[in-house]
Amino acid sequence: MAKRIVIIGGGPAGNQAATTAARLGAEVTVVERDVMGGAAHLWDCIPSKAMIATGGALAEMGRATGMGMRSVSPELDRAALAARIAGIQDRLSSSVTGLLESQGVTLISGTAKLVGPHEVEVTHVGGGSDLLSADVIVLATGSRPRIPDWAPVDGKRVLTTRDAYPPPEQPEHLIVIGSGVTGVEFVHMFRSFGSTVTLIVSRQQVLPQKDPEVAAALEANFLERGVGLFKGARAESIEVGDDGVVVACSDGRRAVGSHVVLAIGSIPNSDGLGLEDVGVAVDHGYVVVDHNCRSSVPHIYAAGDLSGRLPLSSVASMQGRKIAEHAMGLHTAPHRHLDYDKAASAIFTEPEIADVGLAEADAFSEGRKVRVTKVPFSASAKALINDDARGFVKIVSDPATGVVLGGSIVGKNAAELISVIALAVNAGLLVTDLEETVLVHPALAEAIAEAAE
Ligand SMILES: Cc1cc2nc3c(=O)[nH]c(=O)nc-3n(C[C@H](O)[C@H](O)[C@H](O)COP(=O)(O)OP(=O)(O)OC[C@H]3O[C@@H](n4cnc5c(N)ncnc54)[C@H](O)[C@@H]3O)c2cc1C
Repeated sequence: MAKRIVIIGGGPAGNQAATTAARLGAEVTVVERDVMGGAAHLWDCIPSKAMIATGGALAEMGRATGMGMRSVSPELDRAALAARIAGIQDRLSSSVTGLLESQGVTLISGTAKLVGPHEVEVTHVGGGSDLLSADVIVLATGSRPRIPDWAPVDGKRVLTTRDAYPPPEQPEHLIVIGSGVTGVEFVHMFRSFGSTVTLIVSRQQVLPQKDPEVAAALEANFLERGVGLFKGARAESIEVGDDGVVVACSDGRRAVGSHVVLAIGSIPNSDGLGLEDVGVAVDHGYVVVDHNCRSSVPHIYAAGDLSGRLPLSSVASMQGRKIAEHAMGLHTAPHRHLDYDKAASAIFTEPEIADVGLAEADAFSEGRKVRVTKVPFSASAKALINDDARGFVKIVSDPATGVVLGGSIVGKNAAELISVIALAVNAGLLVTDLEETVLVHPALAEAIAEAAE
C-alpha cells in the first residue's frame, strides 16, 4: 500500500513536499486554508518583487538620458499595478494547483489541525469537517507578520507588509520600522514610487546581519535618494491622527509621516495546530526539527518558516523536497542534508544585493584565515554598456586550497549572478574553476571570473 502523506499548508514548503512525494509514489493530500502557493505568492515574495520590478522600470525610464534618449516622465497607474500583481498571483497559484492535480495530489480547502499522532482534522472552508489518517504528516503552515502591542495596525495608515500591494493610497511620507531585508526592500519600493521615506534602524547599520561593506553600499544609495535614516532608534509607539502618523522612539526622537509600515519580523503559524496534544516540541512557537526536518515525533516533519530555520521561500522548497525524499526512504546519508550556511539569498534593492556562504566579516570575527578578492563593476564593459556601473563582486576563498567559501555581489542583476558563486560554494569548486571558465563577453558575470583571479 502507498504511504499516505498529509501536508498542512500549500506554500513553497508544502507544495514542493507534495510534488516530490507524489513523484516517489506516495498518496498525498494537501490541506490549504487560503490559496495554493501560500503566503509566498499572496503576500511575500511575489507581490513585493512585482512592485519592485515596476519601481525599477520607472527608475530605468528616469535614466533614459544616460542611454542616449530624451528623458521621459512615466507615471504610476495604481489600478494597473494592482491588476498586474493579481494577474501574476493568479497565474502562479493556478500553475501550482495544476501541477499538483496532474500528479494525483488531493487538494482540500480548509483549516487543519492534529487530533492524534496519525490523525488530521480538517474544517472545510464551506463548513463541515473530515478526519484524515496519515503515515507521515508534514507541517508547513508558514508565518505571519509580527505586530507588537504598541502598533495600532488598521490597514490604512498603520500597515503590515500584507497591506502594501499596493496600499489603499500612495503614502506621501512612509515611515518604515525595521531595517532587515523586508524593511529595506520596502524603503526602495516606495522611494521608487515617489514617496518620501524615513527608515527607523534599531542598530547603527542598516541590514545589521550583513557584511558591513555591502550594507554601506545600500546605505549610501538610500542617502543619495534622500531617504531619512533614524539610526540607533527603537520605535516604541505610534500615534494616528486625521492626516498622519507619529512614531515615537526610545531615544526621544519622533518620526512624522503620512503612513507607517511594520517590517519587524514574523511569528510562526503554530497556534491552533494541536502540536502540544500529540507531543510535537516547539520553541517560541517554532517546531523543533533535526537535520532531516523531523520533529520530536519521528513521522511528523516541519518545513519552511514554521521550522524556524532560514525564512526563505527557496529554503522552504528545498526542505519540502528533502522531507519527501527522507519520508520515502531515499537519500538519508549525511551529505544529502540541507546546509543552510550555503543557501544563496538576495535583497531586491537598488543596487541589488546577493550573497552566499561565508562572509568576509564573519570569517574575520571567527578569526579564520581567508583570501578576499574584489572587483568593482566600474571595470566591466557590460556595466558601462548598461550605464550602471555601481557595485562590486567579492569572493571569499580558502588561501591554502583555493576552495570558494563564499561571495557577495552588489549591483545590477546580483540576484541572478550569485548563482555562479552559489554553485561553486555548494560543489566545492576552486577559484581556478571560476577563473578558467570561458564566459560570455560582454557580460556582468565576467566580473566573477575576474574576482576569482
Ligand atoms: C515581504 C516579504 C517578502 C519576501 N520575499 C522573499 C523573496 O523574495 N525570496 C524568498 O526566498 N523569500 C522571501 N520571503 C520569505 C518567504 O515568503 C517565506 O520564507 C515563505 O513563504 C515560507 O514558505 P512556507 O511554505 O513555510 O509558508 P507560506 O508561504 O507562509 O505558506 C504557508 C501556507 O499554510 C497555510 N496554512 C497555515 N495554517 C494552516 C492550517 N492550519 N490549515 C491549512 N492551511 C494552513 C497558509 O494559508 C499558507 O498558505 C519574503 C517574506 C516577506 C514577509
